[in-house]
Amino acid sequence: MGNGRKNSISCPICDKGTLVSKQGEFVTEVKCGAEKKELRVGNISWDECDACGEKIFDHNAMRQINDARYDAVGLLTPSELKEVRKKLGYTQEQMAAFLSIGNKTYCRWENGTSIQTKSMDTLIRCATRDRLNELQRKERVKQAVDYLARLREKRLHESEESQMKFAAHSKDASSSEITKLGQKLFERKDK
Ligand SMILES: [Zn+2]
Repeated sequence: MGNGRKNSISCPICDKGTLVSKQGEFVTEVKCGAEKKELRVGNISWDECDACGEKIFDHNAMRQINDARYDAVGLLTPSELKEVRKKLGYTQEQMAAFLSIGNKTYCRWENGTSIQTKSMDTLIRCATRDRLNELQRKERVKQAVDYLARLREKRLHESEESQMKFAAHSKDASSSEITKLGQKLFERKDK
């Protein structure tokens, strides 16, 4: 796996070897309950000591590996947790209270310093899905109420307008006014 390119950096772990840049598939293992599963993560870059074999990952590679770890055991990743929380419009404190867990515990899950258990993960999915459905239902009711209010306003406006039109029409149709106007026109023509 990976192809090597020697750096001139000496290994910070053993202080004997030299770090070699590698890129490719990284193979590790992941705990899944009591058993361990092999985990393969593609297209990863890391530095590896040619003496002690220590692997050093940068922030990006760590995130790729961690995401794959969550994926392999079917857990929400920290960024997925954050996304769900934002959708609910909660702060980290509110989210912790909503799940009835400690602030610090929730924060650790969201920044990936600890991983929620499978049962907590299931609880988070169920509780947030129900809450999101509830919010969507409330939003739909609000939209319907707004729509009806706009419709009522429009109808009121229209009936006012038609009353005005009707008034204008009856004024136009007033026979005495037409007669007066006609007389004026004929008087002019006669001159
Ligand atoms: Zn080393």
